[in-house]
Amino acid sequence: MKPVLFNFTDAELVDFVIKLGQPKFRAKQIREWLDRGVPDFQSMKNLPEKLRTELDASAQTLPVRIIKKLESSDGQTTKFLLELNDTEQIECVLMRTSYGNSVCVSSQAGCAMGCKFCASTLLGLKRNLTVNEIYSQILTAQWELRNDKFSDKPIRPNGDANNGDVSHIVIMGTGEPLQNVENVIGFIERANSDMGIGWRKITVSTCGIVPGIKELTKWARPINLAISLHAPTNELRSQIMPINNKYKLEEVLDAAFEFSDLHNRQLMIEYILLGKKNENGETELLNSTPEYAEKLADLLKNKNCMVNLIPWNAVDERDFASPSGNAVHRFQDILIKNGIHTRIRRERGQDIGSACGQLRLNNAKGEK
Ligand code: SAH
Repeated sequence: MKPVLFNFTDAELVDFVIKLGQPKFRAKQIREWLDRGVPDFQSMKNLPEKLRTELDASAQTLPVRIIKKLESSDGQTTKFLLELNDTEQIECVLMRTSYGNSVCVSSQAGCAMGCKFCASTLLGLKRNLTVNEIYSQILTAQWELRNDKFSDKPIRPNGDANNGDVSHIVIMGTGEPLQNVENVIGFIERANSDMGIGWRKITVSTCGIVPGIKELTKWARPINLAISLHAPTNELRSQIMPINNKYKLEEVLDAAFEFSDLHNRQLMIEYILLGKKNENGETELLNSTPEYAEKLADLLKNKNCMVNLIPWNAVDERDFASPSGNAVHRFQDILIKNGIHTRIRRERGQDIGSACGQLRLNNAKGEK
């Protein structure tokens, strides 16, 4: 396994360059490139050619390596399939939006949660990601954004989208961030201090791990919290999200509102609209009937929250269907009539398998 220079301390990096017979200042040059998310040594333009080639053969820059990069047809979304040093694979997505450059990162290799509609969990949980592995995902996106605009003089990104920087982070890729809460907090603190990304521009999404939400409350930074709710009753939620057998809906919402109210932030509620195909091939509504919309409205009435209605991204292995546009709008109308802020999530990068875990799963199945 090649050493990953990004994981070295400054002192270790100095030792490393001295062993190669190089002057000490090379360590600082290399560090500046690493902090900009450089994927290879050839791009380190101020190093001698011979050293670059030597390093490419013997070391790795970041703890993630791009093995596939897909662009959506509108050029606004880039999806990366990344390999870690132990050959596990993760995904990360860069979305160029009107409000900034947002990156969706993974927090685990695989997922243990077993949600019935999701591709990420199909192969189970492999392991938690380290702080450096999560942080390297935003650096990879940062390099993609600013690669051609770097001058020879390194400029540290500072979260300014107008400058081509990553400005927003959502921890909504593969994995359950609150099962890896220590490293996720470490990652967020680093993104805030080293990349200048404001707390309010960072969102953690959870299926509802109550002790993890309480950890965030104790940590007390004004980030955004999103709850993957997907059903307004315990009966239905337990059918599609096994975690609900452990932490009940009311308990999850209480903990979540305690967190968001503490910072006077709007709680985000994620709600995938799901249907099922019957024997005649027609789609029957599952969690998306008008009755469930009323129940959801009762649950959230007078609460400071925003409901994101998400069209389900089809996953071959999963036996669900997407309701019609009419059903989606009827569901939204009921929520709005009850005074609940609601929007329908725009689908991004559908043509490149941007739903949670799709790319990794397809790669594991041998599709190229
Ligand atoms: N484990 C965390 C974060 C990862 S999942 C969580 O549950 O929130 C990120 C979001 O994508 C969740 O809301 C999840 O329910 C949703 N999701 C998973 N599979 C999906 C699919 N096929 N189509 C649409 N959304 C999906």
